[in-house]
Amino acid sequence: VTEGPGAADSEALATLHRVFGYDAFRGEQQAIIEHVVAGGDAVVLMPTGGGKSLCYQIPALVRPGTGVVVSPLIALMQDQVDALRALGVRAGFINSTQDFDERRMVEAEFLAGELDLLYLAPERLRVDATLELLSRGKISVFAIDEAHCVSQWGHDFRPDYLALSLLGERWPDVPRIALTATATRATHQEITQRLNLPAARHFVASFDRPNIQYRIVPKADPRKQLLAFLREEHPGDAGIVYCLSRNSVERTAEFLTANGVQAVPYHAGLEAATRAAHQARFLREDGLVVVATIAFGMGIDKPDVRFVAHLDLPKSIEGYYQETGRAGRDGLPSTAWMAYGLNDVIQQRKLIQSGEGDEAFRRRAAAHLDAMLALCETAQCRRGQLLAYFGQDPEAAACGNCDTCLTPPETWDGTIAAQKVLSTVVRLQRERGQKFGAMQIVDILLGKRTGKVIQFDHDQLSVFGIGQDLSEGEWRGVVRQLLAQGLLAVEGEYGTLVLTEASGSVLRREREVPLRKEPKKPTASRSRSAG
Ligand code: ADP
Ligand code: ZN
Repeated sequence: VTEGPGAADSEALATLHRVFGYDAFRGEQQAIIEHVVAGGDAVVLMPTGGGKSLCYQIPALVRPGTGVVVSPLIALMQDQVDALRALGVRAGFINSTQDFDERRMVEAEFLAGELDLLYLAPERLRVDATLELLSRGKISVFAIDEAHCVSQWGHDFRPDYLALSLLGERWPDVPRIALTATATRATHQEITQRLNLPAARHFVASFDRPNIQYRIVPKADPRKQLLAFLREEHPGDAGIVYCLSRNSVERTAEFLTANGVQAVPYHAGLEAATRAAHQARFLREDGLVVVATIAFGMGIDKPDVRFVAHLDLPKSIEGYYQETGRAGRDGLPSTAWMAYGLNDVIQQRKLIQSGEGDEAFRRRAAAHLDAMLALCETAQCRRGQLLAYFGQDPEAAACGNCDTCLTPPETWDGTIAAQKVLSTVVRLQRERGQKFGAMQIVDILLGKRTGKVIQFDHDQLSVFGIGQDLSEGEWRGVVRQLLAQGLLAVEGEYGTLVLTEASGSVLRREREVPLRKEPKKPTASRSRSAG
């Protein structure tokens, strides 16, 4: 029998049938697998749930030797290996959770050529002993999973990934495949450069997830809004609710449970056993809701997650896309729902300012947040914005399956309102050397004689009460959008509002400020039918 692409091709297909029990390849899987089986390097950008694992698992099975998979998801290795073993694949892993004997056994299997797949944590490859070990066995392919972790610009940087460039130098004849579900053009380039894959073929799948309906609603009473959303649209469905803090994870899980929704918390502060138990229940049971910090979900393969809800603003579009991407892997209609409000903006801006990292790090974090805010505030199709962010052209200007398509938001000329807010900040800042948070500014505009307004004589300001044409909620919306547009900034630990360089152009009437209209009463919209 001659070995050509055709032979590799049919062997790959046979392996897909025999080992994994699937009928056909999906999307670009076949092209990717053929290329790697033939010994080529590959960079694969494919959304979560797209089927990346088979792209290296099948080459590892078809080519002689062991496929070495580098993955940062240590917590999942045991599960991944168990799942493969259940299919009759000879898989093992080496990471810090093992004791000496366990590791020795896996090493022996590898050296004896008895492993099809060996999972390794990236830090292992910094240890000479590991490189020695790998040199003494036969390797069929290197797979670098979650390859975006090599990107310093990205949201999930892991320094250990930088060392992976040596794989190509040390094993020039072993094909390498780098895979990620997170890929802006910049990340894509960084992966290619830093992993030293100049000759790789690039496979870029569409990042559109047409079955996911994207919705971002104004935040009023987030837990109640969430409950209404679940009752109206997802009763009895499995889903994930993301919150920023452990405390709010706990309280939200309690709130849902108290209101008849089966929910469990998941965050890094819980005992490992509790976390494992909650994750196992989520995978096994129908209709369980996990309330989690972002610690939950990476690598979790549950096809029928019907919704992903965010009660707090993610730090970047990459994060948002990855988290929402955990919904609807089975291709059925699913919802990505988020409640977002003024405090989210203030809190995140504060976090960046008071957080660790150098100036460059802060600038990057701010740029990530700005992109996320632009998505929240857009009056255009959300899917279109998401895809554009990832450098992909949307199929149509309007997808018909996001909130802005379903209920196009009204916009209004907010120039005068913006001037009122900014001049109030100016009055306080320039004339009195005072800085206040959004609440006080809104109270002044509304002409409310609160204790704090009286205490600081703010009812004496010329701007006092000049904003009675809008409601409190509308003013909060104006402030939020000014923050999102960079026309106002947040400062210090109390989140006081200050002017930016761009504020001047609004005050001088040199530019207009188009704003999104705040819905009178924030409600979850009803449409589930679309899509
Ligand atoms: P990713 O790593 O890209 O998030 P996975 O590799 O975990 O995606 O695959 C997602 C799901 O799709 C898994 O349940 C997997 O078994 C399934 N899958 C992948 N490829 C195929 C295929 N060709 N046919 C059927 N199911 C597939
Ligand atoms: Zn749309």
